[in-house]
Amino acid sequence: MKIIEIFYSLQGEGFLAGVPSVFVRLAGCPLRCRWCDTKYAWSKEAGRLYSIDQIVRAVQQWPCRFVVITGGEPMVDSDLPQLVGELKAAGKHITIETAGIAYIPDMPCDLMSISPKLSNSVPDEPKLAAIHKDSKLDLAVLGALIDNYNYQLKFVVDSEADLPEIEETIKNLANVDREKVMLMPQAATRQELLAKSPMVAELCKRTGYAFSQRLHVLLWNNQKGR
Ligand code: SF4
Repeated sequence: MKIIEIFYSLQGEGFLAGVPSVFVRLAGCPLRCRWCDTKYAWSKEAGRLYSIDQIVRAVQQWPCRFVVITGGEPMVDSDLPQLVGELKAAGKHITIETAGIAYIPDMPCDLMSISPKLSNSVPDEPKLAAIHKDSKLDLAVLGALIDNYNYQLKFVVDSEADLPEIEETIKNLANVDREKVMLMPQAATRQELLAKSPMVAELCKRTGYAFSQRLHVLLWNNQKGR
């Protein structure tokens, strides 16, 4: 598998924020979100080739049960089920971080962390914008992920104006547990995070959705591999 980086840190986002975790970042993502903070993971050509055994051994150098498979977009990698299976056999708790654009059944994944992309993520460049608009949201795929995995739904919020689109997306998905929905400030730097957090906190109070912090941004700003 093409791996960008494997590192030990704290989970920064979602309901497991603050939990020490090993991150496995896979290469490749078909989307081109405007504010993506891992653009270095977009290309499938990026990173280093690892066998699944090598990945499991690299993960095991830290005495840590929690593993986060992230990207890029891990769900477009056909070797993902085997990796998840081997990590599970090694006793790990597995989170998969995905934009929810592809479905793979029957993986022993403990938490599917789904971050559906909204209009605020569309890139400026017209050609990329067209591709992005076509593939960023697939309700059938999102529904299958929600119905078949333990999940959290994290929406990245740039401004209050994003709320109607979030509500519309949730309404169009049957069976969403509102207690598993989180709103997270769009912020690549500590300064942006601190500026947008009060606005997102107010939206959370109004809607009842949970606030997702970005602990890694707060602690380490925009440093890579932290
Ligand atoms: S889906 Fe994630 S990795 Fe892919 S471009 Fe968007 S933010 Fe970046």
